[in-house]
Amino acid sequence: MPTERVLITGISGFIAKHCALELLNAGYRVRGTVRSAGARDAVRTTLAKHADVIALEFVEADLLKDEQWPAAVEDCSAVLHVASPFPSSRPKDENVLIRPAVDGTLRVLRAAAAARVPRFVQTSSTVAVMYGHPPERTAPFTETDWTPLESPGVTAYAKSKTLAERAARDFVERDRPGLHYASVNPGFVLGPALDRDVGASAEIIQMFLKGKYPACPRISFPCVDVRDVAKMHRLALETDAPSGGRYLAVSESIWMLDMARAIKASLGPVARKVPTRPMPDWVLRIVAIFDPVARQAVHDLGRWYGIDNSQTRRALRMEFIPASKAASDMAESLVRLGVV
Ligand code: NDP
Repeated sequence: MPTERVLITGISGFIAKHCALELLNAGYRVRGTVRSAGARDAVRTTLAKHADVIALEFVEADLLKDEQWPAAVEDCSAVLHVASPFPSSRPKDENVLIRPAVDGTLRVLRAAAAARVPRFVQTSSTVAVMYGHPPERTAPFTETDWTPLESPGVTAYAKSKTLAERAARDFVERDRPGLHYASVNPGFVLGPALDRDVGASAEIIQMFLKGKYPACPRISFPCVDVRDVAKMHRLALETDAPSGGRYLAVSESIWMLDMARAIKASLGPVARKVPTRPMPDWVLRIVAIFDPVARQAVHDLGRWYGIDNSQTRRALRMEFIPASKAASDMAESLVRLGVV
């Protein structure tokens, strides 16, 4: 029987379920937090298809409440703090995202510190790295970059992730330097969904497959496969590198059009509605007058979000699944699960 128990917050989420599989299959015991008791059975059923779930247990906890966090971290050798709101649309009040992200992270951290849990890995994001920088910047973003929150166009979600990572790093430095902390900062996460609860990550590819986009705007994003993200969480908690690591989970940046073409080439007729034509910039600008999602995309039109994560690759000895495969595998899973 495995002995080390790891707490995974928000185990019902797309990324956290893959983290749970990665740890269970590596011989860890896993305790996952859920917000409602009803989520337990669904998560257990999904994970049982890919791993032995005898070492899986649950606890109910909410990032907005103090209760249950001390019990959640009890007897754990590490925490993977994955939970945070990952919305598909912008909230009217940015605090809907910022409060659970920042206060929730500090709640989990305080409980972990009080229980003397030795290791803490936080799921941050590349939105804490690469947004809000001057558009004329051409240098790729690295582990040392931070999103400047005072810049115009930084979304509430980017603020929530940047503030949460900063809050965690400040807490560890100031109050608990003995706690081994690392962040994993994924780009746009693709790769196979494990069940029909696919989360916001799958939305663009769902829209592609449903034929909701007639063409692809000139938007690029750094991508990563969810299986690599899960592996990096395990490596970040096992590494003998010093505390404070900031690991950028990115295989490569890709234009939306190239992602769509890769899906079409791989899936064939089932992907017949996926757009493979470029959208002229003026079309997106007109759509943006009415559509807030398009308005956000206008901000990024034509911008290449390049990432140089060679430091991460060296530190964790990571070789990444290519973005085209991550996108095609996500599309294939959505078709198989019947969610398109
Ligand atoms: P999901 O929406 O699938 O998962 C989010 C998880 O957070 C769910 O388990 C959700 O619980 C939980 N959660 C949200 N609010 C609360 C709360 N108040 N209390 C307790 N749990 C809460 O998203 P992903 O799996 O994609 O994202 C997971 C993490 O990865 C997030 O931190 C996100 O910011 C980060 N990330 C995601 C990227 C992506 O492209 N997907 C890219 C970079 C970072 P419930 O099921 O109850 O709603």
